[in-house]
Amino acid sequence: MKKLADIGLIGLAVMGENLVLNMESKGYTVAVYNRTVEKVDAFVNGRGAGKNFIGTHSIEELIASLERPRKVMMLVKAGKPVDDFIELLLPHLEEGDIIIDGGNSLFTDTNRRVAYVESKGLLYVGTGVSGGEEGALNGPSMMPGGSPAAWPHVKEIFQSIAAKVDGAPCCDWVGEGGAGHFVKMVHNGIEYGDMQIITEAYQLMKDLLGMSADAQHEVFKKWNAGELNSYLIEITADILAYKDKDGKPLVDSILDTAGQKGTGKWTVDSALELGIPLTLIGESVFSRCLSAQKEFRVEVSKQISGTKPNFDGDKQKFVDDLKMALYGAKIISYAQGYNLMMEAAKEYKWNLNYGGIALMWRGGCIIRSAFLGDIKKAFDKNPQLPSIILDSFFKEKIEQAQDGWRRVIANAVLNGIPVPALAAALNYFDGLRSDRLPANLLQAQRDYFGAHTYERIDKPRGEFFHTNWTGHG
Ligand code: NAP
Repeated sequence: MKKLADIGLIGLAVMGENLVLNMESKGYTVAVYNRTVEKVDAFVNGRGAGKNFIGTHSIEELIASLERPRKVMMLVKAGKPVDDFIELLLPHLEEGDIIIDGGNSLFTDTNRRVAYVESKGLLYVGTGVSGGEEGALNGPSMMPGGSPAAWPHVKEIFQSIAAKVDGAPCCDWVGEGGAGHFVKMVHNGIEYGDMQIITEAYQLMKDLLGMSADAQHEVFKKWNAGELNSYLIEITADILAYKDKDGKPLVDSILDTAGQKGTGKWTVDSALELGIPLTLIGESVFSRCLSAQKEFRVEVSKQISGTKPNFDGDKQKFVDDLKMALYGAKIISYAQGYNLMMEAAKEYKWNLNYGGIALMWRGGCIIRSAFLGDIKKAFDKNPQLPSIILDSFFKEKIEQAQDGWRRVIANAVLNGIPVPALAAALNYFDGLRSDRLPANLLQAQRDYFGAHTYERIDKPRGEFFHTNWTGHG
């Protein structure tokens, strides 16, 4: 009799194909299915030839080829296709079987699907999978959440295919409901932020210091050997060294309009919803929007003249300051991202393991970096840490970074070079350091025009006052 498969997968596009090849390479037999069934045969006879795959041509055939409890993972386009497949699967599954969604689903959809599938007596896992197609093949970062009872059944397979750092898998249980997809979403938001601050450093080196791509390649390479060590700094160094056919840096010939698929926006939507200042990621999303307004920018640049970059200071010192700005902003970006997760955990009653999340992001994904090891250590020291900037290591680092970071922002502003994310992070830092913000005046304005009342510093919290500011009526 033909061996039953350990797991089934629906969706043989780039992610699905690579992930099942990864599973098979770890000794698992995988049954595969795709809506366009020709792709099943193409895969089984192509990249999957001679390997432990069972090609199936219908949902019934897929389900019949699985060991119990059945585990069916979907790697299909996020949104309606996921709901459609759940409906197709449900009549064929039995109590205790597990449906897994490995796509980039919105966490609120996963919250809803977990409740729905559990109401049918089945289990549901929504897992973030990060690292793109290369990660899927060689070891992604995986962030599973959903029905806790499903975890013991999928743990071994997930942890065996995940990336490893110092022997530890970049995959652990995140929490109930849509917690896994929420954490994956925040990961993507942080990715937007990390990328944006790197581009701001690049523009300052290019336009303010007049540095060539080759010279910048050297700077990024050096940074990658130190505390900024990360995948994104590493690939930026590579990109800057890459020459086009004409021998010129390819990066200079790429149109300056950034695309986005929406997960950065979701992160900011969620921050607004939960009332958490996620300013660096917010500016990163808006920066992509501004970059996309290319024609408008070209028109405005013709009509409005302004300050032109002119730097006559010490360039090496400025590059050193830039490193501080990047490091300081990165601390803020992660502090904000973690605060968002903490608030979501409160709102949705998830028991998130913050150190464990840093460990999951430590390898396999786009934001992997040495820095995440320090975040893990901070939460190991104090699992209740209210903000990573209050950890002794990061406190010292951000204090060391701030002078150089301020010089960078001041020079950028004086020279008319936009640094929205680096500056937003510094503004947040200064706001957080302020025991008194001008919101007293804001409350007075609200009370003036709308009788919204205010509290007083010399009275207990919760006692509200109203003033007739105009003295009439
Ligand atoms: P994709 O282009 O997002 O989706 C293609 C797959 O979805 C195909 O199997 C396709 O079937 C199926 N599909 C599309 N519309 C469908 C519909 N209306 N009904 C049923 N099936 C439908 O593939 P992907 O890039 O491999 O990504 C898969 C998931 O992983 C997505 O959620 C994506 O956001 C996420 N993800 C992608 C990456 C990446 O780097 N690409 C990284 C992380 C996460 P047909 O072949 O029949 O069209």
